[in-house]
Amino acid sequence: MIQISKPSECCGCGACTIKCPKNCIQLKPDKQGFLYPSVDQEMCVNCGLCEKVCPIINSRELQTKDAPRAYAAYAQNSDVRISSSSGGIFTLLAREILDQGGCVFGVVYDEDFSVHHIGADRLEALELLKGSKYIQSRTEETFSQVKKMLDSGKTVLYSGVSCQISALKLYLGKDYYNLYTVDVLCHGVPSPALWKRYLEEKEKEYSSKAKFVNFRSKDFGWKKFSLKIEFENGKVYIRDLDEDLFMRFFLKNICLRPSCYDCQFKNIINRQSDITIGDAWGIDSHMPDMDDDKGTSVVIIHSNKGDKWFRQAAKETTIKSCELDTILPPTADSRKSVKPHPNRKKFFRHFAQGESTQQLERFLRFPLMFRIKRKAKNIMKKFSR
Ligand SMILES: Cc1cc2nc3c(=O)[nH]c(=O)nc-3n(C[C@H](O)[C@H](O)[C@H](O)COP(=O)(O)OP(=O)(O)OC[C@H]3O[C@@H](n4cnc5c(N)ncnc54)[C@H](O)[C@@H]3O)c2cc1C
Ligand code: SF4
Ligand code: SF4
Ligand code: SF4
Repeated sequence: MIQISKPSECCGCGACTIKCPKNCIQLKPDKQGFLYPSVDQEMCVNCGLCEKVCPIINSRELQTKDAPRAYAAYAQNSDVRISSSSGGIFTLLAREILDQGGCVFGVVYDEDFSVHHIGADRLEALELLKGSKYIQSRTEETFSQVKKMLDSGKTVLYSGVSCQISALKLYLGKDYYNLYTVDVLCHGVPSPALWKRYLEEKEKEYSSKAKFVNFRSKDFGWKKFSLKIEFENGKVYIRDLDEDLFMRFFLKNICLRPSCYDCQFKNIINRQSDITIGDAWGIDSHMPDMDDDKGTSVVIIHSNKGDKWFRQAAKETTIKSCELDTILPPTADSRKSVKPHPNRKKFFRHFAQGESTQQLERFLRFPLMFRIKRKAKNIMKKFSR
């Protein structure tokens, strides 16, 4: 039976819950809003199936892998590109699957702007899947829906962060010719409870309910992306990634899920997906002709199936082949686990006491001793060169 002795041992994928034949695992949020399984021990028959599908227990390296191929790419249709987070490659890959009569699974907002996975089999529904939502998505019943579709011969694309793709593959337990998977490069997922409080505070400040959220608005350009919230009373909040407090909490690593600080799914070489997509940050310095600040994606192909799929989808794409380590340096936060902010524990202790996000901002400043040590380390590095 699933037993979690420390929070970093669960990424919240939900595979155990869906796999349990007795239906005796429920996902419940902790104080930070992250979901963890809770087992009804009376009902459990100790079959062990939940452990067999857990991607953390079974984190495995793929055996037969060629070096992945990497590209910088963007959709030529500028509406697709502007309404997507990076270069709009997800939409092109997804359209290819819809053209084959398939179903595309991805992430949509709930009414309260938390997020969950759904399946879309029409172009209109695909619009809802577009764009990065920087909170953890609930996979809900989607793994079992995918299995039913695959068994019936339907083509399926499942998209998500890489721990979700690993979980889906373990849940399915075998390869399917009609399954296509794409994962997004992943910095980590911020606390859903923090996002809830942040949005409620904004709604209070603007005296209106939010009706639209975009974590990756390109109003100030792709590189200076911004969080945009539109309210029912017509008012609009928009701040770029350096100014918006929620984005600062996220990118300073103070509010990520514990498993994201010890992520076993960031290794690019041994990915479970067919294709990985992300932002081609730094493209302006090594391929300036691929950058006009509207968004350029990095596309990493892991399988022959992925290669064929990308070639078909790439008909309406501007694309250039490149070295993986150049377009996505091994030091990037999406290729290695980030370190928790030294104030993370204090931050969440005060969060649990009900402090507002404005009050919590003070924890972003690194403690004095930490700053002194970091300075000393930098000086030592300089002298040892
Ligand atoms: C939590 C998170 C962290 C990320 N961190 C990085 C990073 O550090 N570096 C980097 O280069 N790129 C990162 N990305 C990926 C990047 O933001 C874009 O999603 C990606 O480049 C695809 O862009 P696109 O223009 O092709 O398509 P888009 O239309 O922008 O992408 C939509 C895709 O993202 C998926 N998606 C959206 N929200 C979520 C979610 N909450 N959980 C799972 N899947 C989701 C959708 O299902 C769909 O597949 C992250 C994305 C997420 C969701
Ligand atoms: S051991 Fe079997 S019955 Fe018990 S929680 Fe796990 S899957 Fe369910
Ligand atoms: S990582 Fe997924 S499968 Fe493992 S315990 Fe957590 S929710 Fe269950
Ligand atoms: S950082 Fe790793 S564990 Fe966290 S959501 Fe991303 S892939 Fe999953």
